[in-house]
Amino acid sequence: MDVKKIYEDANALLSGHFLLSSGNHTDHYLQSAKVLENPKNAEILCAALALQIKDAGLKVDCVCSPALGGILAGYELARALGVRFIFTERVNGVMELRRGFEVSKGEKVLVCEDIITTGGSALESAKCLEAFGADIVAFGALANRGFCKRVGSSLEAKKECKLPLSKPLFALADFIFNMYPPEACPLCVTSKAYKPGSRGN
Ligand code: ZN
Repeated sequence: MDVKKIYEDANALLSGHFLLSSGNHTDHYLQSAKVLENPKNAEILCAALALQIKDAGLKVDCVCSPALGGILAGYELARALGVRFIFTERVNGVMELRRGFEVSKGEKVLVCEDIITTGGSALESAKCLEAFGADIVAFGALANRGFCKRVGSSLEAKKECKLPLSKPLFALADFIFNMYPPEACPLCVTSKAYKPGSRGN
């Protein structure tokens, strides 16, 4: 599957100067919302991701995504796996399980994002569920920004990766872009980083 082409065809592979939720700056951004606005894309991508997970023999009872970015991918993945879907959300900066969602002790949960960069939000979501006794069996994403190691890729995890190496990360492709800490970003010389979505895209 050519994930890059799907993103390009949906005008979802952006070039510029972007501020990531981690605080770092980058020269490219994957706008998954633009890909997933077409439900057929969501279905195709998540069916392929579900196949990887099934092929690995992983048992999953539930998919959980951190709001907002991961919800569409996670929901469609849950459909493809035939399991239920819940999401966590930040309240005053802290990831919480709300809206009557519950996880049971020992329930096998896969945490799904649209894109895994350092995995910070996915990890927060996982910790929130573990506090209720859930068993986090894996992480998933449509694409991996190349900082974390995904199943089937020869790329090793970089120091920025926050996901535990003991749990597999399933993703369809690696996308390697430049990422800079804000104090050492060469793009800041000529422009100001902006958060995708804040200026109409
Ligand atoms: Zn910058």
